[in-house]
Amino acid sequence: MVSFNFSAEHQQFAEVLSDFSTKALLPHYNRRAASTEFPFDAFAELGKLGVLGIGLPEKFGGTGAEDPVLLGLATETLAAGDINLASAPIQVGLVGSQLLYASDEVQERYLPTLISGKETLAIALTEPGSGSDAGALRTTATPVDGGWRLSGEKTAISWAMNASATLVYARTPGTTRSQGVSCFLVPMAAEGVTRHHMLGMGCLPLGWGSIHLDNVFIPADHLVGEEGRGFHTVMNHFDFSRAAIGLMCLGAARQSLDEALTYSEQREAFGQKISRYQGVSFGLAEQATYLEAARLLCYKALWLREAEQPHTSLASMSKWWPPQVARQAIEVAMRIHGNLGYAAEFPHQARYRDVMAYLVAADGSAEIQKRIIAADLYRNGTVAY
Ligand SMILES: Cc1cc2nc3c(=O)[nH]c(=O)nc-3n(C[C@H](O)[C@H](O)[C@H](O)COP(=O)(O)OP(=O)(O)OC[C@H]3O[C@@H](n4cnc5c(N)ncnc54)[C@H](O)[C@@H]3O)c2cc1C
Repeated sequence: MVSFNFSAEHQQFAEVLSDFSTKALLPHYNRRAASTEFPFDAFAELGKLGVLGIGLPEKFGGTGAEDPVLLGLATETLAAGDINLASAPIQVGLVGSQLLYASDEVQERYLPTLISGKETLAIALTEPGSGSDAGALRTTATPVDGGWRLSGEKTAISWAMNASATLVYARTPGTTRSQGVSCFLVPMAAEGVTRHHMLGMGCLPLGWGSIHLDNVFIPADHLVGEEGRGFHTVMNHFDFSRAAIGLMCLGAARQSLDEALTYSEQREAFGQKISRYQGVSFGLAEQATYLEAARLLCYKALWLREAEQPHTSLASMSKWWPPQVARQAIEVAMRIHGNLGYAAEFPHQARYRDVMAYLVAADGSAEIQKRIIAADLYRNGTVAY
């Protein structure tokens, strides 16, 4: 083990983002979290900071080569200010990395505006009849003269309501499971596309919704990647972006715990500051311990990806456990704030609801992550990593 330090470049970037997160995002998080409006202004600010293009080509405004640790550092730092906006670099990275397999025209049309924060793109795998079992998707893509006709329904899609286009996964009729599934770039203005807003318990500004495709014509050059290989590229990116999601949840939790730490030094009960009671301070000590352990797990997964070493299981561990640690830490922070922790005017309730999305299902449920880890354990014949 050489060091736990970030590179000077990463540290510098994180300091800029931390300043932005604290001064520009945090003061308005609670208001934004209660609204279903996508925060396009703040999204464009992220674009100006260069945080949306992490790991995407420089010619489109990105930082260049894949940089997993920087992605994690950025999302963790931004989430202290606003967990919903912190998910943007992950979403743009996921969509952008798929678009690199698209035609030059599609790349030039969408990548610069996505990376600069001028427009959003969604990614649609989940359907009413298939989520975890994505290989069972039923949306069809029928070859026709000059392109394809897409029909089906996608559900629970982040950014569905604000996206100008969506990466849609659909299968050639007659195929089964992952074979025959291709990825298509579907402009949301195309004839036959309709969208419906879905209200979740959190992540309200992310425009969660369903997308209906009724015989939608998609030109041949909007096929992304090879025909029948749609799953291949998306799974490669999910493989590490899960660890960035873990860090994002932990960043939001850390902010709640920091606020609880400050509050415990101000609030008095029974003639002294509540920080004097070990019932309060030990709670903070315990949560700080869990947070640090979960954080190191996530960064190890990202570091392994960077070092081109096996990282899939650690990324899955980083997706199921850290959101749980974060939820528990936020709950402790809420309790330390007493009635104020529960009050809508304070951000803890919003962070609690937002973090729950990642604990329950977003980007794959905890059970699916455990399935991946368990398969690896039996393959390796050991639980040690
Ligand atoms: C906030 C939010 C944002 C989302 N954004 C997107 C998006 O942008 N794009 C997109 O395509 N999807 C998105 N999703 C959908 C998400 O990917 C799915 O919800 C997730 O994959 C689970 O699928 P499901 O909801 O159909 O649950 P199911 O797959 O039906 O699972 C139901 C339950 O069964 C369990 N289960 C299923 N299979 C197994 C198994 N083999 N072993 C053990 N347990 C199992 C699951 O863990 C879960 O507890 C989002 C979801 C949320 C909540």
